[in-house]
Amino acid sequence: MEAETLSGFMQEGELMNQKILKITLPMPLGMGTVNCYLVLNQNGIFLIDTGGPNNEKMLMQELEKVDCPPEKLSLIIITHGDFDHIGNAAFLKNKYGLKIAMHPEDSGMAEQGNMFFNRKSPNFLVKILVPLFIGFGKSRRFSPDIFLQNGNTLSSYGLEARVISIPGHSKGSIGIRLESGELISGDLLDNTKEPAFTLLMDDQIVANNSLMRLKHEGIVTVYPGHGEPFDFSVFKPKN
Ligand SMILES: [Zn+2]
Repeated sequence: MEAETLSGFMQEGELMNQKILKITLPMPLGMGTVNCYLVLNQNGIFLIDTGGPNNEKMLMQELEKVDCPPEKLSLIIITHGDFDHIGNAAFLKNKYGLKIAMHPEDSGMAEQGNMFFNRKSPNFLVKILVPLFIGFGKSRRFSPDIFLQNGNTLSSYGLEARVISIPGHSKGSIGIRLESGELISGDLLDNTKEPAFTLLMDDQIVANNSLMRLKHEGIVTVYPGHGEPFDFSVFKPKN
């Protein structure tokens, strides 16, 4: 992919004292794209999600391009255990000694390399997500260093943000709510065509409850795992 095209993938949103950069990476087999986010502040640089196993080289290039090489990163935060989000976490941990934080409910996905781990209904995954198994070998698996729970603040790591548990897409899905009202949402919500719940839902009732709780969190903008950021104040799910 050419540099000009790549630069089109980067987006910036200025916050009070924290800046979000979006990195968009291609999924395998033409399955669309997946987002990782960098949050930069005076304390450090935080990488939220890491793309899929097929994205290792491009992720490194993108990090270099925005002057956030792995050596400069403070922490990796994982929104949930799907392979298109955890694909390069083990590589970054093993090569650069970075710590990985995620919710314990999804840690089995990362440890066993199994997206069916603790999901209710694996049927929806069979057709659509199994291709992501390609390339997800033992070297990609890891155990998290830090467990994140609902309500945890991340300020002790230097990030002015709070963890909100938002199960539905997976049991251990979390959103990272920045102090200034942005939510990095993982896959509960996406915006590939329009803002919506993900079509790949494990438990819609649980997801509805997650959304209800988000409505009371004063969220301004959602930065989803797939698609473009959107205004949360006008969001009404159709599905
Ligand atoms: Zn997912």
